[in-house]
Amino acid sequence: LYSTFSVTLKQKLHSIVPSITVPNLHLEECIWQNLEKWHDKTALVCAETNRSYTYLELYRKTNALSNFLCKFEKLKQADTVAIILPNLPEYAIILLGIIQAGCKVTTLNPLYTPGEMSRQLLYSETKAIFTTTKMCSTVQLVLQSMKLQIPIIVVREKKDSSLPNGTIYFDNVVEERFDIKFNLARNYEDTALMPFSSGTTGLPKGVEITNKALVSCIYQMSVPKFDPLSATSGSEQEVVPLVLPMFHVYGLVDILLHGLFKGCKLVTVSKFGSQAFVNLLEAHKPTVLYVVPPIFHMLLNRNEIKPSHFINTKTIVSGAAPLGGTDVNALYEKLKRQLDVLQLYGLSEVCLSHIQSSYIKGGSKAGGIGVPLPLTEAKIVSTDNGKELGANKSGELLLRGPQMFKGYYKNDSANKEAFTNDRWFKTGDIAYYDEDSHFFIADRIKNFIKVSGFQVAPAELEELIRRHPDVEDTAVIGAPHKMLGEVPKAFVVRKRHSNITSLEIQEFVKCSVVHYKQLVGGVYFVDSIPKSLAGKIQKNELKKY
Ligand code: AMP
Repeated sequence: LYSTFSVTLKQKLHSIVPSITVPNLHLEECIWQNLEKWHDKTALVCAETNRSYTYLELYRKTNALSNFLCKFEKLKQADTVAIILPNLPEYAIILLGIIQAGCKVTTLNPLYTPGEMSRQLLYSETKAIFTTTKMCSTVQLVLQSMKLQIPIIVVREKKDSSLPNGTIYFDNVVEERFDIKFNLARNYEDTALMPFSSGTTGLPKGVEITNKALVSCIYQMSVPKFDPLSATSGSEQEVVPLVLPMFHVYGLVDILLHGLFKGCKLVTVSKFGSQAFVNLLEAHKPTVLYVVPPIFHMLLNRNEIKPSHFINTKTIVSGAAPLGGTDVNALYEKLKRQLDVLQLYGLSEVCLSHIQSSYIKGGSKAGGIGVPLPLTEAKIVSTDNGKELGANKSGELLLRGPQMFKGYYKNDSANKEAFTNDRWFKTGDIAYYDEDSHFFIADRIKNFIKVSGFQVAPAELEELIRRHPDVEDTAVIGAPHKMLGEVPKAFVVRKRHSNITSLEIQEFVKCSVVHYKQLVGGVYFVDSIPKSLAGKIQKNELKKY
């Protein structure tokens, strides 16, 4: 059961990572196994309204929702149910209730444009939707345009907001009278969660994460040397903000599910902004803070954010994009003390948890992503010939482990590309490990842009820009950006006689995609897009511009 990197590092890893055994449990059994220890503690509280649920309330409402869905004639087992919600405490009830009812959850960014929404609803074959009263009319218009008639269950954000016609009210389906248990024949290998990711190439696709992978991931993150969260005990309870979106695995698995497993108090923030963040820090004094690098930079650069806000903070975890070692030192300077800063590396395909700095002060190396979690394997292979490389040699990072997804939903060609014959997952990231087995991310070979920790698929923007009648051809790459990490930058070949401007193309894109997919890196006109003989865009050539 010990993890292995590659054969050469086996011995070193044994001393760092203890063995663990992951029991066969359904997700809800895993989450509720210690319920009696902290049933009366707050599980979730909304930072904006102070609406909160104790662990017992959460458990009861989850059962009620699951039972409602089991009896609901418009849904059958293994159907996909979409969650289109901002970070609200009810997100947890809905997520766990759907999975317990044997359905799979697909999570959508609530800020998506109608076009982005309908694409994911279509490809995930969604059969019911959870959303808010506020967003309901947009969702209804999307369904109308798709000629799709499926049930919508709405969460009322404000008590006085009226219930849209033809929808089901969330509060009615989580009443205690549904508190009986249904016995379903469920398999640990069933898909429980299906976020969308573009993977190494192409358009966003459904990432099938099984019940087993979720439970494994929770156990793997919870080994003492890695885990920043202590389990609730007596009056000691971790306070953990949920500012990162729950439609992404980082917010959903690493913070929400992991936090519930440890009995933490999770503080949800539905609308993130610097003032909302300051308010939250002031009111809740978090003990552990999960961020992405742009939020880390906000901590450093905003004068309103003061050392006193971190009086209870033991650890800051940064993930989803690279965090530099100098940023960590700048934080120590600002706070006038050292706290644990961990880096988390992963992908949607592995629940964002595969490699993580170990939870030992000074144990993680500046700029490094740490060592693989227990039960996981990582190796570096040459991008030229696929051969395994030794220490301090950069190549593509390949991963294997029980938290791995089972494949892209109904997409054989993407699955063939993503895995080797012996089921190593190709990350598309260039990395190396040093003589102490610590991994470092050096570059990325995949077609993928990370803006503020959000992923942007160049193929999606290229497809959109190509739809403009004045565009002959296009290619989109990621350009470095000081605050956001990277931003999309487009190269465009205009049609003959066209005088279209950069601004017009930026405006064209603006109304079709969410804010972080905008062409902030600019639009550059070229005579042709450099392509290989096989017709593949040579993005490295474009990066020289
Ligand atoms: P996503 O599927 O949206 O979570 O994106 C996964 C990708 O984000 C990885 O393949 C990396 O390119 C990048 N990534 C995630 N965590 C880190 C990190 N700690 N350092 C550098 N890149 C990261």
